[in-house]
Amino acid sequence: MPELVEVETIREIVEPQIAGHVIGKVTVNNPAVIACPSAEAFCTLLRGQRITGITRRGKYLIFGLESGDRMIMHLRMTGSLLVTPQNYPLEKHTHVIFDLSGDIQLRFIDPRRFGRFWLIRSGQEDTESGIAKLGIEPFDPGLTAEYLKSAFAKRKKSVKACLLDQEIIAGIGNIYACEILFASGIRPDRSACSLSEKELAVLAEKIPEVLKYFISRNKTTPEQYLAGKGWDYQNTPWFRVYGHEGKPCPVCGATLVHEKIGGRGTTWCPHCQN
Ligand SMILES: [Zn+2]
Repeated sequence: MPELVEVETIREIVEPQIAGHVIGKVTVNNPAVIACPSAEAFCTLLRGQRITGITRRGKYLIFGLESGDRMIMHLRMTGSLLVTPQNYPLEKHTHVIFDLSGDIQLRFIDPRRFGRFWLIRSGQEDTESGIAKLGIEPFDPGLTAEYLKSAFAKRKKSVKACLLDQEIIAGIGNIYACEILFASGIRPDRSACSLSEKELAVLAEKIPEVLKYFISRNKTTPEQYLAGKGWDYQNTPWFRVYGHEGKPCPVCGATLVHEKIGGRGTTWCPHCQN
């Protein structure tokens, strides 16, 4: 599932290719992926609009349009976005195709069809997409030990489950929650409200640091990205614990263990994480 890191990579690759381009015909092959408005209105309203840029909030991408309208999307489990030449071979499970000026297309592909689009008109409040409920961005200077302390105090769950809670911090999923807790030396099953001031300070520092590191390791070119169908992430070899259960800890050599914590598979070092 694309998490903040992968969504940021997609933004960095796609934005320079489509910013300034005007949307022509929009083809929706599967109306279920258009959450709001109707698929028909979505296509009509977008036609003729110029794309100004793409921003990210948590795991959402927000396409700015010159009119002030914004098209929001969430890739969910298996969604990907490709920028292709007009006549590029069509992938299976292509649900939406945006014809863009300059004879290119923006295509949304999603085998599991959980990805969603919302079109929010200029001046309209976004009550639909879920963005309004998101917690702080990991790179916001407001993400401090104090912020975490007050957010964790209200929730009686593990620190791992709190990192996955989008209403506390936006964008962290299972992979980077494991990596952040390893880098912080904190056991994932610790009750979040049991963390000391010092541990909270380390966590507040490691969250942006780990995410930035993996964004930098994920750098790719538009050509590589297209050849990998938007799925060929470059940072996988740099994971230190995620997917490494049963292997030696990269720091101490102890065997990494795997447990279900907060409903999700979690890999951690029983020696380094306390
Ligand atoms: Zn270790």
